[in-house]
Amino acid sequence: MASTFDAVLIGGGIMGNATAFELARRGMKVALLEKGALAAGSTGRSSAIVRQHYSNEVTARMARWGLDVFRDFDERVGGESGFVNAGFLVLVPAEDIEGLRANVALQQSVGIDTRILSTEEIPEVMPGVASADLVAAAYEPAAGYADPHLTTTGFCEAAKRHGARFFFNREVTGIRFAGERVVGVDTTAGPVDAGAVVNCAGPWGARVAAMAGLDVPVSSCRAQVAVFHRPEASRGPHPVVLDFVHASYFRPETGDLMLVGLIDPSEAEDVVDPDRYPEHTDDAFEQLVGERWIRRCPAMEAAERRRGYAGLYAITPDWHPVIDEVPAGSGHFVCTGFSGHGFKLGPAVGRLTADLVTGEPPLFDAHPFRLARYAEGDPVRGRYEYSITG
Ligand SMILES: Cc1cc2nc3c(=O)[nH]c(=O)nc-3n(C[C@H](O)[C@H](O)[C@H](O)COP(=O)(O)OP(=O)(O)OC[C@H]3O[C@@H](n4cnc5c(N)ncnc54)[C@H](O)[C@@H]3O)c2cc1C
Repeated sequence: MASTFDAVLIGGGIMGNATAFELARRGMKVALLEKGALAAGSTGRSSAIVRQHYSNEVTARMARWGLDVFRDFDERVGGESGFVNAGFLVLVPAEDIEGLRANVALQQSVGIDTRILSTEEIPEVMPGVASADLVAAAYEPAAGYADPHLTTTGFCEAAKRHGARFFFNREVTGIRFAGERVVGVDTTAGPVDAGAVVNCAGPWGARVAAMAGLDVPVSSCRAQVAVFHRPEASRGPHPVVLDFVHASYFRPETGDLMLVGLIDPSEAEDVVDPDRYPEHTDDAFEQLVGERWIRRCPAMEAAERRRGYAGLYAITPDWHPVIDEVPAGSGHFVCTGFSGHGFKLGPAVGRLTADLVTGEPPLFDAHPFRLARYAEGDPVRGRYEYSITG
């Protein structure tokens, strides 16, 4: 293994791979070090919903940019992202309808194709939906979901074509500095020298940050996904649905399956050791989300349970990531804490992080994601927030 690189990326999820691709295509000599396998962390368990419905401008812009990458993946990156243009529907309770309108206006102002649907229009895009408790919804026709493994592999292979090196089963055990500058990392297979080091360690992000003497407030939290087999009469294509009335989401999956999960701040309470946690669903969870789903889609009463799974969210206090060089000018970068909504932002995060590493004018505003915002009492806040979705 060549032991000197321009940049070392710690972590082989979507963030590490997208950043590796963006750096390598700029001619940097890049190494990605992953303690397990590709997409072995949050990314591999992601529901991979690719929507642009955000309540602040910077994440809406990043999601907008990322959607084009998922859609035109072969041309922009190479290979497949598995993107399915299912559409995306947001349902909010009556008291949040003005907030929904404000967010849709914000999203439209940055070029997102989204609109408000009346109650009469909702069943046109989502047949069989119970809409008696709704006064309107928002709909993004261009959104959908992707395949997290295909997408991550696509970034990895594209980075390799630009000369990046990948080392799996290679754990980073320390981060080395000479004075204020980072000079490399220690790994289970020896030291690696690098002019820049990027912590893309997801739910392990706080542990890795501690190797650089930093306190980054990222908790590793268990997030469950229930899987159901749809009844024969209800197997047609339909949009991804974020149902804030029932604090849950559901999206179709290959094989007439449906993935159903929560959008609930209480998920931040299930803090676990990321190396040792129950990776299956709890019976009570399946019961809970199944009931909520059936309330929204009564025909799903006849659905059958399949084996669900649990993954990890890397949650920060404001449910937004830290993307920052700390200390400034050190060559040590933090890119973690995506709080359960980072997959769709991955392409844009790769671009932004590469801009920060190379010192090029950033395509997106990194200021809201600085680590110091917590100490400054200036967390990321949306124009109108219904819940935890950014
Ligand atoms: C159940 C679930 C559903 C989700 N649904 C969505 C969704 O619908 N849409 C969406 O946008 N987002 C979603 N997310 C969130 C999204 O998947 C994550 O935000 C994103 O995948 C985070 O990517 P990452 O690269 O930061 O982290 P990870 O994918 O966790 O990658 C970090 C990697 O770092 C490695 N690592 C850690 N420590 C070290 C070390 N010391 N040395 C070397 N390697 C190390 C780990 O092994 C891991 O592979 C979901 C997440 C989960 C769990």
